[in-house]
Amino acid sequence: MDAPPVSWREIALITKGFMPADEGDALYDAALEAARAVPGAPFVEVGSYCGRSTIWLAAAARGVDRVVFAVDHHRGSEENQTGWEHHDPDVVDANTGLIDTLPLLRSALHEAGVERHVVVVVGRSPVVARYWNTPLAFCFIDGGHGVEPARHDFEGWAGHVAPGGTLAIHDVFPDPTDGGRPPYEEIYLPALAAGFEERSATGSLRVLTRVSRRAREG
Ligand code: SAH
Ligand code: MG
Repeated sequence: MDAPPVSWREIALITKGFMPADEGDALYDAALEAARAVPGAPFVEVGSYCGRSTIWLAAAARGVDRVVFAVDHHRGSEENQTGWEHHDPDVVDANTGLIDTLPLLRSALHEAGVERHVVVVVGRSPVVARYWNTPLAFCFIDGGHGVEPARHDFEGWAGHVAPGGTLAIHDVFPDPTDGGRPPYEEIYLPALAAGFEERSATGSLRVLTRVSRRAREG
């Protein structure tokens, strides 16, 4: 008897990265719901790394016939560089000595069978955001966690979330003893101040929706 096929979720769980299973499942549910709320609009992920979270988003996109634009320069965040807490020598390109997670991302998406639902965008988030012009059903921010990168991600992307769409933020720690401040202070709090409403919290994942125009005028 043949072994049962490996599911996309099992591939996500063996892919290098930083997305816990329960938060990945919550991300998937939130993306499906957001897609239903904003017909036809795509998803953006900022910070794909090796594709772990991307697989959950792409599986949701497949379910509703959408795509995820997966934005990353693939050179790693500050905390991924040599000598830092989240460094992994296996993601360094031996030729350049630089981190290069792009080949791992492509291979993971292929293995999970979701390649058709992902457009890989290799570049710096603020540069991509500057030229972006399409309203989003779902925007997931999990890029650089320093003050400047987090601020630029909020400024660059939150405004592209369509009314009724969703902004999901990873590594949000209201209690400073749990982790770094910038995703909380530079993305989560400004989003609430800008009128996004919190829908759910799972681990460090926060799911906020942009109140629809109709509701706001209500
Ligand atoms: N979402 C992934 C983890 C992302 S780690 C998971 O679930 O496993 C953060 C990623 O953000 C890294 O791959 C890094 O290269 C990327 N990144 C950091 N700053 C960036 C920037 N300014 N533009 C594009 N990508 C960036
Ligand atoms: Mg993260």
